Order: sequence, then C-alpha cells, then structure tokens
Amino acid sequence: SLTIAALREAPGENRVALSPEVVRKLVKSEFQVLIEAGAGTRSFYPDAVYEQAGAKISERSAVIKDADVIATIGQPGADVVDQLTAGQTLLGLLRPLTDLDYVKELAAKKVNALAFELLPRTVSRAQTMDVLSSQASVAGYKAALVAADSFARYLPMMITAAGTAKPTKVLVLGTGVAGLQAIGTAKRLGAMVSGYDIRPASRGEVESLGATFLTTSVSATGEGGYARALTPEETAQQQAELADFIAQNDVIITTAQVPGRRPPLLVTQKSVDAAKAGTLFIDLAASELGGNVAGSQPGKTVTTPQQAQIVGAGDMASQLPASASDMFAKNVQAVLNAVVQNGKLVLDVDDEVVGELLATYQGDIISSRVREAMK
Ligand code: NAD
Repeated sequence: SLTIAALREAPGENRVALSPEVVRKLVKSEFQVLIEAGAGTRSFYPDAVYEQAGAKISERSAVIKDADVIATIGQPGADVVDQLTAGQTLLGLLRPLTDLDYVKELAAKKVNALAFELLPRTVSRAQTMDVLSSQASVAGYKAALVAADSFARYLPMMITAAGTAKPTKVLVLGTGVAGLQAIGTAKRLGAMVSGYDIRPASRGEVESLGATFLTTSVSATGEGGYARALTPEETAQQQAELADFIAQNDVIITTAQVPGRRPPLLVTQKSVDAAKAGTLFIDLAASELGGNVAGSQPGKTVTTPQQAQIVGAGDMASQLPASASDMFAKNVQAVLNAVVQNGKLVLDVDDEVVGELLATYQGDIISSRVREAMK
C-alpha cells in the first residue's frame, strides 16, 4: 500500500503537514503513514498521539527513504532533497513560481512535485485542497490578534469612570481571504475598521462585515478574478492616494499579494515616516521577496525613528500552529483523494486540478505557469 509521510519542518515553522485526525482517516483508507519523530511537537501533537492514530514514528532518513508521498508545509531542505529518489512525490508549498532552481533540482531527480501554489483555485472541486485560502484565513485572524496585543491602546471604545477611550481605527489593505478574516476579527474586538482592495469586486464582502470600503482611482482585476500587477505609473498613483488613508489610521494590516510575483509596495517609506508615533503596521506579505510596507523585515518587529512599529508578519499561520496544521492536513487529504485510485498513486497530467498542481512529473517541468516564470 502507499506510504504517506510528514517530516519535521525547518526551524521557525511550527506547523506540520499531517494532523492526527487526518492520519487516522488515511490509515482507515489503507494508507501507511510515517511521521518523523517530533514532527508535531510545535503544533502540540506529540508522537504518541500519532501512534494512537495508526502512524509509525521513525527517524528522518528512514521516513524519507520509505515514503511514496511526502506531505510538507514548506520546501524540504537540501538534506531531504539529496536523499529523494526517482518516482517519489512531494506535496506542499514548494514555491515553484519564485524558486525556480528548486523546481529544476526536483525535475533533475525525477521527483514528482505537487505544489499548492499552482492549484487552480477557481475550479470548485479544488476548494477543499486550497492551502492558500486555509492558511490565509488563519493568518488574517491571527494578525488582528497580534494587532490588539501590540497596539498601545484599547481597540474598542471604553466608557469608564476614568474617561472614555475612542475606538482604534484599523485599516486593512488587501481584502482577499486574509484581509476579510482580519476585518472580521478586528470588528469583533471593537475596532473601527475599513478595508481597501484594488479589486472593486471585494466591496460587498468588506461591507457585509460592517467595515467601510475605501477606493482609489486605480483598479485592476486580472485573470480568474485575481489582482494583476500594476504598472509603475499605477503603483505611484495608488501609493499617493493610499498615503492619506494610512495617515488617518492607527493600525494598518496589509495582505496584498499578486500570484507568483513579489508583493506590491502599498506603504512607502514616506508614509511610514509620516505615521504618527505608536502607529502599528502588520505586514502579512513580509517575506524574503519583500513586503507591502517599506522597511518591513520577515519575522521581526522594527521600530522607526518616529516610533511607528512595523511587524514583519509573513508567518502568522505558523503562529497559530494547531489550527493551521489541522486545515493544512485536510487540504493534503483532499489532494490524496484526488491522486489515489485503487490504492495506487495516479498522477493524471490531463486532470484539470492534478495536472495544474504538478510542477514536475517524471523528470519534466510540466507546469506551464512555472515555464512561463522561467522565461
Ligand atoms: P491573494 O492572497 O493573492 O491577495 C490578497 C489580496 O491582495 C487580494 O484581494 C488582491 O486583490 C489584493 N491585492 C493585490 N494587489 C493589490 C494592490 N496593489 N493593492 C491592493 N490590493 C491588492 O488573494 P486571496 O486572498 O487568495 O484571494 C483573492 C480573491 O480570490 C478573493 O476574492 C477570494 O475570495 C477569491 N478566491 C476564490 C477562490 C475560489 O473561487 N475557489 C478561492 C480562493 C480565493
């Protein structure tokens, strides 16, 4: 029978790609499940809980060697890739559009790579597999909590004998899955919330959460309802118009992404410098590719000379690891259901979902999106 495995992720990544609940279901449907010792520790899933669910706990190199499919949150490091052999399959967030050397290496090793970034998200059958959505949802929620925890004032209005505190004004830039979750959570905490997106279509979603929708003269909807990258002129125009909104708010949560591109810069250095003391920026797009806020650094909080704070919050899903892992694992299970027939792994390159998910197959880079990114 097929062996599905999960490894201990890189340091700093708290999630795990298989949860005990999903392991139990996989074992029931006749898979063998291998979990590296300690893989679930940072999500508060001890080895013993996986064992009770029917998994076998092994040390790292044995897991790598015996796995048919390795489910992973992030890219496995060189120690893993070196040990992989032809015909093995990786499933995870493999950064196929932004780390092309990695994809080439997997292809050279004839490792089949199913990359969640390539999921055709508008195909309804793919929704249960949508890691980008499930993790963005966790991240948006956590971002609002980090905002509440890090900001020096109450979020809600407080009427007390010692005076009245005004509600904090929270602005969410980018109102996709993460942004909407941040808006909903900040509203529940009592903040005065507004949202902005380059896609005018998101107005209804923002307003249905009781937040105000802001617009600029620049709007851009690209393929499949997603945002497209802006021209330099549009970018400058947008940045200038956003500067006023930013100056009027206390907490700015940014979530803007364009698939396969570096995140757009929404908050310029000028806007950061102009922000009043205590202003809090939470940049969910912060990564090694850059972020939405000038000067944000992934995983770090920067205090500016004007005493604004910029939280490089690209890792918010990892900061709510148990819920994030549960949802990630469900998405993994949904993909496995789509690629296993009668106990055998069938990677159908002509399937509208599986074919798109495949970055590499039998030694070739078969994804047209990855090949486009290589040009
Ligand atoms: P995302 O993570 O790629 O981007 C986050 C948000 O940033 C998006 O709303 C995008 O419009 C916005 N953005 C990009 N560039 C911007 C800019 N310059 N200025 C301001 N905002 C900018 O997107 P997402 O959250 O994964 O999803 C975006 C949309 O797709 C949402 O409407 C979501 O509901 C929809 N969606 C649909 C499906 C489906 O049909 N199955 C699945 C997932 C998401």
